[in-house]
Amino acid sequence: MNRLEVSELTVAFGRRRSVAVDRLSFTLAEHERLGIIGQSGSGKSVTGLAMIGLLPENAHVTGSILLNGQEMVGRPEKELRRLRGNEVSMIFQEPMTALDPTMRVGRQIGEVVALHHRDRRGGIQEEVVEWLERVGMTDPERVAHSYPDELSGGQRQRALVAMALANEPGLVICDEPTTALDVIVQRQILDLLDVQLRGRASLFVSHDLAVVRQVCDRVLVMLQGRVVESGRIDDIIEAPQHPYTRALVAAARIGNHPRGTRLPTAADFTEGPRP
Ligand code: ADP
Ligand code: MG
Repeated sequence: MNRLEVSELTVAFGRRRSVAVDRLSFTLAEHERLGIIGQSGSGKSVTGLAMIGLLPENAHVTGSILLNGQEMVGRPEKELRRLRGNEVSMIFQEPMTALDPTMRVGRQIGEVVALHHRDRRGGIQEEVVEWLERVGMTDPERVAHSYPDELSGGQRQRALVAMALANEPGLVICDEPTTALDVIVQRQILDLLDVQLRGRASLFVSHDLAVVRQVCDRVLVMLQGRVVESGRIDDIIEAPQHPYTRALVAAARIGNHPRGTRLPTAADFTEGPRP
């Protein structure tokens, strides 16, 4: 069974029903890593949020999202909460907003551990410290007793990875998990994710082709809510078909472009406003 089967997913916002995601279809097999690439506003985050049932109330959703065979679209919030706890979790771009600033990091991770391991023998705090070690914290006890603003950006992102994985989800949605970090820390967190996402399915949202290449097998290229191209990441980078994908690949190789080269924008690939 596929972890995810998405068909004809459409998400529109507000009374004017402006379309953010347009008839999106894809499947994600067990243990597979799928990237979604596209520039800002192309519908990547909206897609990720839909997978975990976290879209805001003004979102109109049609189509189907089967998570482990269970329909997410139209499911009551109470049941979505249970799925979020057990089967899917999300790593957000901004750890400072995803973590509660008023609560020690250890307690936040402990709450996730407590929810999912009611029958465990060991103490919750022991398991929290184990998770902090697993995500590469050098001083896990101290980190557990810290508040989020006492940690560096990289440490906060590691804490968020621990929190997302502590319930052992089969599917992890990562939305630009390294975008807010400097390049060295970004590399460390990508290495960490590469290890920690093993054995799970993951959907990895990024505007950065190089980042997606490091962690994903396949990729969907989104432009204004639609998939314009999809396939194995290496094939796409070697031989992009759609002009927009070609522009993304060229932008990732900006070092080869003479200074002052204008990079194309989404507007260059669309024929005016949509109906
Ligand atoms: P990105 O690819 O940068 O992650 P998003 O998925 O965040 O893009 O956004 C896609 C489109 O949906 C954008 O046009 C955005 O303005 C719109 N959108 C996202 N969230 C909302 C919301 N809560 N209300 C209205 N429009 C939204
Ligand atoms: Mg986004």
